[in-house]
Amino acid sequence: MASIAPSPVALSDAAGGQPLLHRQLFDATTGTYTYLIADVASGEGVIIDPVFEQHERDLSLIRELGIQLVASLDTHAHADHVTGSWLMHQATGCAIGLAQSARAQNVSLPLEHGDHVNFGSRHLQVRSTPGHTDGCVTYVLDDQSAAFTGDALLVRGCGRCDFQQGDPHTLWRSITEQIFSLPNSCLLYPGHDYTGRTLTSVAEEKAFNARLGGGANERDFVGHMTNMKLPHPGKIAIALPGNMRSGQPRDEQPAQHWAPVQRSFAGLPELPPSWLAEHRNAVTVLDVRSEDEVEGPDGRIETSLHIPLQDLEQRQAELPSDRPLVVVCHAGSRSALATQQLLKAGFDRVANLRGGLLRWSDEGYPLVGSIHH
Ligand code: FE
Repeated sequence: MASIAPSPVALSDAAGGQPLLHRQLFDATTGTYTYLIADVASGEGVIIDPVFEQHERDLSLIRELGIQLVASLDTHAHADHVTGSWLMHQATGCAIGLAQSARAQNVSLPLEHGDHVNFGSRHLQVRSTPGHTDGCVTYVLDDQSAAFTGDALLVRGCGRCDFQQGDPHTLWRSITEQIFSLPNSCLLYPGHDYTGRTLTSVAEEKAFNARLGGGANERDFVGHMTNMKLPHPGKIAIALPGNMRSGQPRDEQPAQHWAPVQRSFAGLPELPPSWLAEHRNAVTVLDVRSEDEVEGPDGRIETSLHIPLQDLEQRQAELPSDRPLVVVCHAGSRSALATQQLLKAGFDRVANLRGGLLRWSDEGYPLVGSIHH
């Protein structure tokens, strides 16, 4: 059942009649904010601090609004999540922007203090704001009505200074000289918040930031920052090396040339329903759902081989080795586990059907025995 294509939305309507479209997106797992900014007149835009796991969400928004993405920018090399910049570059051809001093791979727009990132007739000014990391930057909108501070300044807080070349003296100077020198009315959009606060302003932070507002001096700030005793960030071992490649997944498994396999950041090879539909006869479709589900009202892909997930290890001999395997289940999560098992067992031409039979069916591809029509 092919869905009816939505009618296009005018970017000016999406922007509420304003000359600039501004969206704040959130990743609940890491408390990360991602920002999409676009110049309505030209349709050009930038994304700031995209999260790897939210790539599909962010990309579909960009496509639905018809935004031509100029650059995917990070405020710094994050320790708590992997950037979506490399995926965004792969999908849209946009540039990858990050401070030159972070020295990450795949960066096509190495940024320095004072640089402008242009989109349409607008631009973001780059201000170097180190202290949380060496390579932290703040992106200031051309009219100084808004700034994206990353982790240099958070709502009533700031990024930690106890790892990744952090230095509270440096951060103090960055905030007071580069951020608090903006107009009091400048809105500040942070890189994170864990309690639901979404934005603040220069005036508010000058007055109420517990660490450096309300008359605190550098000594007060440094004293606060050096006594925080924060836990080690859990994801740093994965996130930092990932971000030093701008979010490009490491190719740990041999390259698969039989299909345009895409990898999740966990390294799982995946294929979309459209590819499977077109190459149905060149592969074996392995359905790992239970007997009840395969015979039930959801239906199944014609001529698929059926081995329930819990039997897969014992029954691997039944898998034909002359053709690649595409593994399917209802929504794609059990088949992900099966794909992992098969890769471990030495099957090298295997991929998960992204989104499972749910997406297959949503995209209008046929299921034998299905009663949902
Ligand atoms: Fe950070």
